This record gives sequence, C-alpha cells and structure tokens, in this order.
Amino acid sequence: MSQSKIPSSIVGAASVVPPSTQGAPKYEFFKVIQDYLDRAAAVIKLDDYIRLILSQPKNEIIVHFPVRMDSGEIRLFKGYRIQHSNILGPFKGGLRYHEGVTLDDLKALASMMTWKCALMQIPFGGGKGGIKFNPHTVSKTELQRVTRRFVHSLGGNIGPDYDIPAPDVGTNSQTMAWAMDTYMNTVGHFSKQSVKGIVTGKPVASGGTLGRDKATGQGVVHCITEWAREKGFDLEGATMTVQGFGNVGSFTGVLLSKLGVSLVAVGDHSGYLYNPEGFNPHKLQDYVQEKGSIAGYPNARIISREEFFATKADIFVPAALENQIGKDEAAALNVKLVAEGANGPCNPEGERVLIDRGIDLLPDVLANSGGVTVSYYEWVQNKRSEQWSLEEVDDRLERAMKEAYREVSQFARSHRCEMRIAAYALALTRLEIVYKQREIFP
Ligand code: NAD
Repeated sequence: MSQSKIPSSIVGAASVVPPSTQGAPKYEFFKVIQDYLDRAAAVIKLDDYIRLILSQPKNEIIVHFPVRMDSGEIRLFKGYRIQHSNILGPFKGGLRYHEGVTLDDLKALASMMTWKCALMQIPFGGGKGGIKFNPHTVSKTELQRVTRRFVHSLGGNIGPDYDIPAPDVGTNSQTMAWAMDTYMNTVGHFSKQSVKGIVTGKPVASGGTLGRDKATGQGVVHCITEWAREKGFDLEGATMTVQGFGNVGSFTGVLLSKLGVSLVAVGDHSGYLYNPEGFNPHKLQDYVQEKGSIAGYPNARIISREEFFATKADIFVPAALENQIGKDEAAALNVKLVAEGANGPCNPEGERVLIDRGIDLLPDVLANSGGVTVSYYEWVQNKRSEQWSLEEVDDRLERAMKEAYREVSQFARSHRCEMRIAAYALALTRLEIVYKQREIFP
C-alpha cells in the first residue's frame, strides 16, 4: 500500500476505470475462477467429488466491529476472512483493504491461494480476507485501530498453525506488525514469541524475512526470464509497461530494469504516464513511497487509460486489480507478453482476445506466487527462530519459481492447453493425491 489522496488537478480527465466495465453488471470474479477450476478438472479428469469440494470455500467468516475515529465518531467496519482449503496445510493468504472488497471476490482470491500453494508445493492452503473501506481516507492512527480491532474480531479464527494472513492491496508490512502485536497480546499472549508466524510480510526487525518486500515482483521476473529463455527473446533493450506501481508493480519494474528492460508507460489509481526515454523505476518507487502515487512525477506525459493500453512495448505487467483487461484492452495491447502480477487482471473475454492474437500470457497463479513462497520461508524461519540471508531466500525462490515455470510450460505443451489451465491442473493433481489418501471424514 502506498497511495494517498490525489489532487484532482493531477488526475485530470483520465479515467482509471476499465471502459468496458462502465455501467456493466458486477464482474463475477468467483464464477470466473470456478470456470477455470472446471476446465482444469476436465483436463486431468479430476474425480468429481474433489472438484465439488474445491468449488466452494470451507469457511466464510464475516465480522462487524466498531472503531473510534480521530473525531470521536464511532464507525462500524465489515471484515471478512475466507478459508478455502487446508488440506495441504494452514490457510494462507493476504488481507485486502479496499472500498471494492466483496465476499465473492475474496472467495475467488482465497481459492487461487489454494492453487498457488499446491502448484508451488508449499504446505499451505488457501485463504484471503479484508475490510471494505478505503485505507487512504483515514489517518495512520485510525488505520492502526481498524487493523487491531479486525484482528481481535477474528480472534481464534486465525492462528500461526491454522490461518496466516499477509499483505495484499491496501496493506503492508506495517499493517502486519500491528496485526502480529494484537494477536500476541490477546489470543497468543501465553506464548508471545512462538506466535510470530501469525502473519507473514512483517518488517524484518519484527520477525519478517529478508527478501519478502520484493518477493512477488522477483517471482514475476523469474517467470519472464524463463519465458524469454524459452522463446529466445533478448530482454536487454526490451520495453515494458506496468499497471499498478505498489508492491508488486514497482518491484517488478525495478528488477526487470536491472535486466535491461525499459519502463515506458506506467499507471496507477491516479492515472497514467508515458516517457519514451524510459522511467527510472527506483526513483519512481521512492517517489510513490513519499507521495502515495505516480501523480505529478516529473518528465512524463499524462496519457489516458486507452493510450496506456495501446502503448507499444514488449512486456505488459498488470499489477493492480482484477478485471482490468477486457476485450477492448486486449485488442489494444501492442505487446508480446502479458505477465500477470495482479490476481485475475485479465477477464475471460480479454484472455480469449490475447490468445487469438498470439500474445503470450503468464498466469497469476504461477507468475505472482513468489509472494506466498517467500511468506512460507518467513513462517519456517519464525518456527525455527532463524534469520536466513538474502542470498539464501533469493536462491530458494529462484529455484522454486523456475521449476514451477518449467512444469507449467511442459504441461501446457503436452496437454495442448493454456498456461493458466496447466497451472490449475498441476495444482489439482497434487490436491487430488492428498484427498485420495486421506478420504472424507467420517
Ligand atoms: P498495492 O496496494 O501495493 O498496490 C496496488 C497498486 O494498484 C497501486 O499502485 C494502486 O494505485 C493501483 N491501483 C489501484 N486501483 C487502480 C485502478 N483502478 N487502476 C489502476 N491502478 C490501480 O498492492 P500489491 O500488493 O502490489 O497488489 C497488487 C496486485 O498483486 C493485487 O492483485 C494483489 O492481489 C496481487 N498480489 C500481491 C502480492 C503481494 O505480495 N503483495 C502477492 C501476490 C499477488
């Protein structure tokens, strides 16, 4: 999370809302994920009772909790925690603070965490949670109180061996420090030091791991590197565009630029910017940290959302929200590769257009799984009271990401299916083995 209020003069007339969704019925994100599940299940002939179980989350928790605002007013907040599957290990997944949070979206995101952990062979299941509010409209002290009351309301529904939250859109390492402290001082008070693993993505000094801040972007870059190797594409001198310049987008931009890829267009909730000479992603990242968004960044031309999607580049990294690339955006894109840093950025119509146009797609379940992978390393370090070096974290992540990429790519080739369906199918194959071994209780 890094954005704050944007001066309307800077936002200008450029809309940040996908035009193809304006006035359209609510996007059914969970239904889309269920359809992918069905398609992948058909490819591997998954036993239908397992598909049925995995088609819905195990638990859907909704809490309402009061928070005293700085003005003295009491506001009631609605918080969610969706626990999709824990057959492979504790539920695991981020906390999202966003005004658009809905139960169905979190069900979609929680299911995707199950596929990601299974694909990456991490002993975690899938979860996701959040609060429906805009964190940029409250003060830092209010944000802290909202977080602490939310964690307190969830109480024993989360736990370091049961359900482990992490950062997502609108939350960051500071949010996780407050969450851990609240849990330690309430539910886990009897064993404070051994419950550090209640959340991952913590600041390093408070029990976090080195390399977690960049982990998701790093994972995206490992996948892009493997894709380039497979295609014989030279990244040196290539160009990229990035939508969303928060945690995932900014680190992807910074790390890809180290490989010689130039960032020519970028966008976030405040609007879109273009610089044919290439942005300095480090400086832009620092700028966003300080100002809260890309708005007002010097030496750049403000462009519309439509112009952003039509910008010619080699690689496009969507790293904002779901349902950003519909059929219009996909038709406008002038790139060779779309690498999904965000969860669900392409809707099915958009994906179909990309495929028909021969644009390669690295699916979210694979491409952004570096975050949960390094979260797992953090959790293991907390359990062992260890602190791994950055080199160790980086090496493990690189091996894990590249192996997963090769497996998905190989599966897609051998089964003549898309990379997304291949990633789901591999995950389902691993889940099926465990269901078959354990069978159904009682
Ligand atoms: P973040 O809050 O750090 O950044 C989100 C970015 O999206 C910001 O730059 C924001 O301005 C931009 N944005 C918001 N609304 C927008 C709009 N309407 N149009 C254009 N841009 C908009 O969040 P993040 O952690 O970087 O997460 C981004 C995506 O990556 C999400 O889909 C999230 O689920 C996914 N993801 C995150 C992680 C992680 O480790 N943080 C891991 C896996 C997947």
